[in-house]
Amino acid sequence: MPLTAYDLSGRTALVTGAASGIGRASAALLAEAGAVVHCADSDAAGLEETRALITAAGGSACTHPLDVTDRTRLRAAVDDVISTAGRLDIVAAIAGIMHSGMVLETEDEDMDRVLAVNFKGVLYACQESARAMIRTGAPGSIITMSSGAVDAARPGLLCYSVAKAAVVQLTRTLATELGPYAIRVNAIAPGWIRTPMTERHDAALQHRTEEAMARISPLRRVGEPGDVAHTVLHLASDASAFTTGQVIRPNGGVAMPW
Ligand code: NAP
Repeated sequence: MPLTAYDLSGRTALVTGAASGIGRASAALLAEAGAVVHCADSDAAGLEETRALITAAGGSACTHPLDVTDRTRLRAAVDDVISTAGRLDIVAAIAGIMHSGMVLETEDEDMDRVLAVNFKGVLYACQESARAMIRTGAPGSIITMSSGAVDAARPGLLCYSVAKAAVVQLTRTLATELGPYAIRVNAIAPGWIRTPMTERHDAALQHRTEEAMARISPLRRVGEPGDVAHTVLHLASDASAFTTGQVIRPNGGVAMPW
């Protein structure tokens, strides 16, 4: 397969969580590869910054301020993509929140909120996008955001890791159901990535998780948003045309499941 397999010219992408961190880096890289990128996030100001970044680099982007727990707003964003571009080729469901709390201190509201954003928000994006892809007959790539939290049990990460494990099972199930429509579905399970989310986490716990994670990585470092964005690009592009139902791990080698 030639290197042009990574060329996304003529493709349309929807990226949730595009106002910050991994989502912003992914939206920018997909645009650099030639896709028109529809950026969705609850942070309207951050979305504008991402759009400005993309257009300054010569790319093309639109913004959709929305909460991914609101299925109606997600459906409207997908409808807008289809009415302006006529097709939706790539979806990267990246929006998510971190939550820390020991099991015995976990309230119903904690679990409900994390599942609503990190699982249902991904489910809604997958459902609404896949319906549009099937309607328009375009082959597609759906990318979901899991986490390295599914590869190990750690104190305080119950809500987060349960939601991210649910994302893996959603991804694998959807891959079996959407394959016949030429729609591929894959999950990414990153290790510790330096983003506003992880910076907030360490500040709240007054802990340098970053240093601990770097120590246990064979590469002796944590990740940058670009490390994950390149995995998103690979899964979005024809370079991964035979890959579906997989969990890809840009994690610096901190976990090495078979
Ligand atoms: P980030 O910098 O905080 O970016 C996440 C973005 O999602 C933010 O702009 C956030 O907006 C938005 N968002 C949160 N809840 C939303 C909602 N209900 N509707 C719409 N947008 C919402 O975090 P990140 O580190 O890039 O993480 C991105 C994804 O990667 C998450 O799913 C995370 O779980 C996953 N992940 C991250 C790491 C890591 O080490 N960073 C590792 C594994 C997996 P607000 O800022 O307004 O909340």
